[in-house]
Amino acid sequence: MKSKIWLSSPHMSGNEQNYINEAFETNWIAPLGPNVTGFENDLQSFLNEERHVAALVSGTSALHLSLILLGVKQGDEVICQSKTFSATANPIVYQGATPVFVDSEMETWNMCPMLLETAIKDRISQGKKPKAIIAVHLYGMPYKVEEINAVAKAFDIPVIEDSAESLGSHYKNQNCGTFGDLSILSFNGNKIITTSGGGAIVTRTLEQKQKAVFLATQARDDAPHYLHSHIGYNYRMSNIVAGIGRGQMTILESHVLKRRMNHETYVTAFRNNRNINFVHEPEGHFSNRWLSCILLDSKTNREGVRLALQKENIESRPLWKPMHQQPVFKNSVSYINGVSDELFERGLCLPSGSNLTDNEIDRVISTINTYFVTC
Ligand SMILES: *Cc1c(COP(=O)(O)O)cnc(C)c1O
Repeated sequence: MKSKIWLSSPHMSGNEQNYINEAFETNWIAPLGPNVTGFENDLQSFLNEERHVAALVSGTSALHLSLILLGVKQGDEVICQSKTFSATANPIVYQGATPVFVDSEMETWNMCPMLLETAIKDRISQGKKPKAIIAVHLYGMPYKVEEINAVAKAFDIPVIEDSAESLGSHYKNQNCGTFGDLSILSFNGNKIITTSGGGAIVTRTLEQKQKAVFLATQARDDAPHYLHSHIGYNYRMSNIVAGIGRGQMTILESHVLKRRMNHETYVTAFRNNRNINFVHEPEGHFSNRWLSCILLDSKTNREGVRLALQKENIESRPLWKPMHQQPVFKNSVSYINGVSDELFERGLCLPSGSNLTDNEIDRVISTINTYFVTC
């Protein structure tokens, strides 16, 4: 059996262990401590805008707290990009609110600003003004930031920016993770940097960060005994996990460069293959290329390509199956234009890790080339 090539696997810098050892030596094993503060500071200075970061247990918990901070409650509607991972949509349901899904445009594969406007107008005409909009920078490609923000502003609806896949991406030289009224990051195992599991909420004011931390640490009021006037959560990142994050921050930029190189290598290798297309960066958009994705033409059987790779012990995955097609959301209201359905039918994510070797990328490319010669 040939060695396994993963879609996107953890890639340590070597510095992580030092921070973890320090935490052990000083007995800071609790869900607070110098690594948490250090990691938050590293993220704040990387994002390079007036923002405040609170480190949490996951990107999902960051989305949940974002909805709470915006006052989303039972019976509210929240607009959500349909083409995404389910973690974007699930916290809407945790709040007892209802997701309303909006389809994508073809240039970035993210939420279509025109369809967003249509959806908002239609919801308002039904007496249900959406409480928030969740937009996602899929696979690291920034969404149409100016257009989405303009629509949101016109209707005075806050945007939650799901930047789980796009740390290190930017739009017109401003970092992803700073465009939302609130933004979230993820450090799950397969993301561009990982803390094994983790996430963060990015806020515009210190008060919002403090409120997020308060809710994330069981909402304890200021008293010598345990006093609670709010429902709390256990969502704070631990000092051990944050140590991994500090080590990962030292190599974030080099990992972005390597992932972008992977993408370039695929583009060059398949330049003359008319069956294979890519999503290119529109002007002003800089993608971290978290995952390199190919778009196969309608004559090509996407599942055939995936199985050919699997036979060679190479992991690949169809693009996200849109939320409006998921059994769990089958009764949801959706505004659909066919784009995310088509991307799901024709798209495939290829191995994209920052630790891929030249030899491994060559194996991926030659397996795909062989498929097209023999199919
Ligand atoms: C990974 C991911 C999340 C969830 O982050 P976790 O840290 O795994 O909870 C949310 N949204 C998107 C788009 C993601 O890819």
